[in-house]
Amino acid sequence: MEYDRTILSPNVADLSAGARVNYVLKGVPASPGIVMGKAFVLSFDEVTPPADRTAPHRVADEIDRFAAAHETAVSELQRALDIAVAESKTASTIIDSYLMIVKDPMIVESITDRISSGANAEAAVAHEFDVHRSLLNGAKDPVLRSRVQDFDHIKERLIALLRNRTLSHAAGYDTIVIASSVTPQDMLFFRETQTLGFVSEIGGINSHTCILARDMGFPAVIGIRNAKQIIQHNAMLIVDGYSGVVIVNPTEQTLKEYREKQSKAEEHRQKLGGLLQKETVTTDGTKVTLLANIDTPEQAELAVIAGCSGIGLVRSEFMLIQRGAYPTSDEQYLWYKDIAERAFPLPVTIRAFDVGSDKFRLGIPHHEDNPALGLRGIRFLLYRPDIFEHQICAVLRASEHRNVKFMIPMISTLEELEESRNMIEHCKKKLRAENVEFDENLPVGIMIETPAAALMADSFAQSADFLSIGTNDLAQYALATDRMNEMVADIYDALHPAVLRMVRMVVEAAKKYNKVVSVCGEMAGHAAATEMLIGIGIHELSVAPSLILELKQRILNVSHSECQRLVERLENCTTTQEVYTELRSINEWREEGDLIA
Ligand code: PEP
Ligand code: MG
Repeated sequence: MEYDRTILSPNVADLSAGARVNYVLKGVPASPGIVMGKAFVLSFDEVTPPADRTAPHRVADEIDRFAAAHETAVSELQRALDIAVAESKTASTIIDSYLMIVKDPMIVESITDRISSGANAEAAVAHEFDVHRSLLNGAKDPVLRSRVQDFDHIKERLIALLRNRTLSHAAGYDTIVIASSVTPQDMLFFRETQTLGFVSEIGGINSHTCILARDMGFPAVIGIRNAKQIIQHNAMLIVDGYSGVVIVNPTEQTLKEYREKQSKAEEHRQKLGGLLQKETVTTDGTKVTLLANIDTPEQAELAVIAGCSGIGLVRSEFMLIQRGAYPTSDEQYLWYKDIAERAFPLPVTIRAFDVGSDKFRLGIPHHEDNPALGLRGIRFLLYRPDIFEHQICAVLRASEHRNVKFMIPMISTLEELEESRNMIEHCKKKLRAENVEFDENLPVGIMIETPAAALMADSFAQSADFLSIGTNDLAQYALATDRMNEMVADIYDALHPAVLRMVRMVVEAAKKYNKVVSVCGEMAGHAAATEMLIGIGIHELSVAPSLILELKQRILNVSHSECQRLVERLENCTTTQEVYTELRSINEWREEGDLIA
């Protein structure tokens, strides 16, 4: 399905008629999970404070009125804190921070002073919180800026209480709350009434509410403008917190599809059982980070369901293959942002277009006799700086939530990295001038795919922020065998001792300069190679989402020292066959066919 943000399809009139029409709304996926149920539209009054002033003889009453509302707000939060303490540390920390704001003596005193000077209680509250809001809004740090919502929530709640609006969270079982914004304490009360999930009109994925929603496994989609107007009370809804899609009045067929999707996710969760929550660590305490390789935003969802700790490789050229053309920078931005938001708060490494060779070839000026050795990856991007610049700007813009990294493929010279960095700086300057938000510290890493990069890994490790070993290409170039040519398939093997030596060199170099190094080639996903890679000192593996569970189970059962001993034995191997024999010694129960071919 193709959709734009908050696209209205088909016609809004069909909704009021209650027809089953699959009315699709696209927002921001704020907390993963799929829920289906009836909408419960929460609507509070607008909080525009009245302009009238308080007559001097009514000031004391007005102060009392504020004090009563303030007391109720504190006790509501106190009640939320009781629930939060039982829920999780994150929940109680968040509610505590709200309590700190509401109880802040400076804020309370300043509101009282404002009332004493003639403002009515609502106006005094509004003005006080608006001052804090504008201070936070001016902050450079986006995390600090996202705290604006906390102040807005408290302001809105105090004003609602001044208007005698009691809070009703009795949305109840099987309903999905639709609200303009949701506070962390709302979340806790919803949980008590067994509400299924929520959809909000505003909010940031970094907000306390969304952090809490993720923590509590409460599916949520935010940022759907006018959701309260579009979605009718009691309308049937599907909320897909993986993709950020909300479907109003779904057809039977769509409900069926989503039930299947929901039960698949549930099945996976069950299969993972306790594993999902477990840290990936060897029996003797070495931590391993399991990341996912993906080609599309939809796969980011699968990766999150599979319990990955981030996306280690987004093969962005897949977008080109799908579209058959270079998308505009804006189109790319939406695609990258979609992935970054689906994975948030997990990190996402977007690889620059790896054009050329057997992949997408549009823009390569003429026939190449040896395309794998030709204008590929970074070589092409530096040849076409216009295309590279569009991509860099799109990636930078998608980094606004600070969970994006950028990775350069097919590096073989230091100049290529330097030129890429210059291009990135140029794009940053451009975006700064346009006042566009992006991560000033966007990490820039490189793929180690050529023997030159592996042999010079110490130099690269000094200037790159991280390294990722692409063993598929490293094997192809180290062994001078086309990875697509079945005539030389018996030579093409990433377990060749020459490739393993290069991997070790890269790990040593990364260690020396304190840089993270991962493996994202197919070797990372092969069970037979897991112990070897851990023994070599690789602590980050990026694999297909479907392999994450298998790998995790395996790592939980091996010891780091055993892996190191295996690597010592491998050092003496001079042929690929000897490597296989050693690996088989710890994999006796596996069939030969399971090993890397
Ligand atoms: C690799 O070369 O190992 C890699 C991960 O990149 P790709 O397979 O996309 O070339
Ligand atoms: Mg590669």
